Amino acid sequence: MTRNDCLARDAADPLAPHRAAFALPPGVIYLDGNSLGALPATTAARVDEVVRQEWGRGLIGSWNTAGWVDLPARVGARIAELIGAQAEEVICADSTSLNLFKVLACALRLQGQRPQLSMRERRIILSERGNFPTDLYMAQGLAELMGGHYELQLVGFDEVPAALARLGERVAVLMLTHVNFATGAMHHMASLTELAQAKGALTVWDLAHSAGAVPVDLGAARADFAVGCGYKYLNGGPGAPAFVYVARRHLATMADDAFAQPLSGWLGHRAPFDFVPQYEPAPGIGRFVVGTPSILALAALECGVETVLAAGVPALRAKSVALTELFIEQVESRCQESELRLASPRQPARRGSQVCFAHPQAWPVMQALIGRGVIGDFRAPDILRFGFAPLYVSYTDVWDAAEALREVLATRAHDAPQYSQRKAVT
Ligand SMILES: *Cc1c(COP(=O)(O)O)cnc(C)c1O
Repeated sequence: MTRNDCLARDAADPLAPHRAAFALPPGVIYLDGNSLGALPATTAARVDEVVRQEWGRGLIGSWNTAGWVDLPARVGARIAELIGAQAEEVICADSTSLNLFKVLACALRLQGQRPQLSMRERRIILSERGNFPTDLYMAQGLAELMGGHYELQLVGFDEVPAALARLGERVAVLMLTHVNFATGAMHHMASLTELAQAKGALTVWDLAHSAGAVPVDLGAARADFAVGCGYKYLNGGPGAPAFVYVARRHLATMADDAFAQPLSGWLGHRAPFDFVPQYEPAPGIGRFVVGTPSILALAALECGVETVLAAGVPALRAKSVALTELFIEQVESRCQESELRLASPRQPARRGSQVCFAHPQAWPVMQALIGRGVIGDFRAPDILRFGFAPLYVSYTDVWDAAEALREVLATRAHDAPQYSQRKAVT
């Protein structure tokens, strides 16, 4: 494989034209779309329109005339198309962390209401030790709030089936992130959901590194609850609103429950503009909205989601696999003498859209790469993380990034003092 071969692959790539849908700066190879998606070309003009026209001229009337009030559901319905959900099962709201709190609380409440099961015995929230910390922290906070009735138990990535077999009906909720943030390893959602449900547990899936990157079919997997992130592969912008999914069968069960999720804010009320003192939840997924959504952020997220829908997940996945395979092959063949070790699964079917290498000098190595215009990121303690957003990453980018990594390691460019200073955000 030569650089010219990569140029030829780019010329034949059906997704190549989608790169023009992004306003990427020149001279940069952006391999961090898994942490902050690139800026879509349409976003600035759309946000400008929302600011100047809808807000500036339309003022408060725009809640009705510009459809602001429907925006969380409208963008949620578009995201639903990417994750195998029905439109009425998904809504945009708050952050991933907050949505986790809502659905986890909701799942525990549903478990408590199942008459055939002993709630006293079903006290475990099962998750993975390497899960993204906010997922674990939110579960810890909720367990603490519930008076210590529930206990968070953590196992290794591959130990979930064995843990379900061992803990059996003591598991209330299985809470997992589909694609691991630090390794890119991907769980088999359908089979783990089935195993958990066979024990009577409910499932909460975090799709932060999945939505817009890998095929997800929540419906086919019969997933119970899910949350996900707007600013990663959905290109919604820094701090974009997150989304929440609840299976229709649970929405139906919860319809008569006056407090199905604990953050019972006024915009999740059945009739917010009745301004009555008693909370009554909206009948469906609308009850997962809490307070007034950020309309500017939702408008930007809508632009980002459209970039993904325009390409379609199957095409994105096919190219993502090709890009990650190429990167692993190029890095391993060029950097044989180095201390690099592949930290992602070698089998593409077990990997999301990122490739991670462990290296003892991972922080300065990544800083040296960034100094050369190859932007990935570092995850403690020793991970070089490269995300491949197939909408705007080319085969030639992959070739050039692997070459930059070879050159950094071969010349020990990372030993330069300016690359050793740790920053607040890594
Ligand atoms: C990025 C990410 C989050 C982010 O949560 P925020 O509330 O948006 O800060 C949560 N979970 C996982 C697995 C993530 O990768």
